[in-house]
Amino acid sequence: MNNQSVESQNVELLFGLKDEKIVSVNDVEQGLDCGCFCPHCNSRLVAKKGSIRQHHFAHYESDDCQHGPETALHLLAKQVIKEHEKVLMPSHFDNYELEDSLGINHQNSTYIKQSITHLNQVEIEKPLEGYQPDVSAITEGGEPLDIEILVTHAVDEEKSELQALSNRKMIEIDLSMLPRTSSYDEIIIATLYEAPRRFISGDEKHLKAEITDKVDIINQSHSSHAKIKAMQSPTEGKVLLMGYKFGEGYSPRYKSQFALGHLFFIKPVQSTSTKNFTLKASGGNELATRDVHENVLEQLEGLELPALVSLTFEAKHSIGHNTKFIVTGIKPEDT
Ligand SMILES: [Zn+2]
Repeated sequence: MNNQSVESQNVELLFGLKDEKIVSVNDVEQGLDCGCFCPHCNSRLVAKKGSIRQHHFAHYESDDCQHGPETALHLLAKQVIKEHEKVLMPSHFDNYELEDSLGINHQNSTYIKQSITHLNQVEIEKPLEGYQPDVSAITEGGEPLDIEILVTHAVDEEKSELQALSNRKMIEIDLSMLPRTSSYDEIIIATLYEAPRRFISGDEKHLKAEITDKVDIINQSHSSHAKIKAMQSPTEGKVLLMGYKFGEGYSPRYKSQFALGHLFFIKPVQSTSTKNFTLKASGGNELATRDVHENVLEQLEGLELPALVSLTFEAKHSIGHNTKFIVTGIKPEDT
């Protein structure tokens, strides 16, 4: 005999593989008629169902291998989930935190109570992208779920990293402490409900996506504020450009084609008096629209709006009207 651990030597094989299913020694015929094979080494088994010792399987033409009970437990747990199409989901707390551009912390967290979920599309060892979970299924809530059964080996790092890239949740059911002498029914109860279980991969991805979206919006608003603030500084000519519109059409009234270009921006309300105008009070910003020359369109398309810019104007004279100014150039300004 090889050097085997005391534990393995003492454990009888209570389950065999028959027609690709794990069956209990209690449910098969005596002797070789049982038609069973070792779940680990695939040797033929003999069902020993005497009146003295506990009923068990022995290998027929080979030494008993020592891993039958563990392999049987692993296979049986997967089989149980597929047959019963349900599992107790562990309770779960998930938290994801992210700092915005001002260093303020934002967090997104979720707590899920433990609950039994019905499972659809249960499959054993189905290959997924780069990894193969013990069991894969769709939960009652429509979420893809991977289930790992821990008997001797916890989920390895590579598998959990690949799993983390997927859009699926993963739980681990820990049967490592379950006595290897457990009966079929005890294994069912342990697998579905009572064995310790935990999330390996939960809501982090979802929480992260949500909080990232939120912080992006907050950062955008910080940057708009910074731009407005910069614009309020005495530097003349800086405006916060919000948008633009170019188009062409036909005017039935003038019976002619026309083209238009408008810029929309925010600028500080006039803060100084002029030769003919005494300013008594002013503050804040005003919305303004200006005609813009179509040559400016190319510059506009390269801008991320809102953008702090300085504008170049040219006077456009038209007989009988006030002088109008048209924007002929845009220069991006640093905030
Ligand atoms: Zn074996």
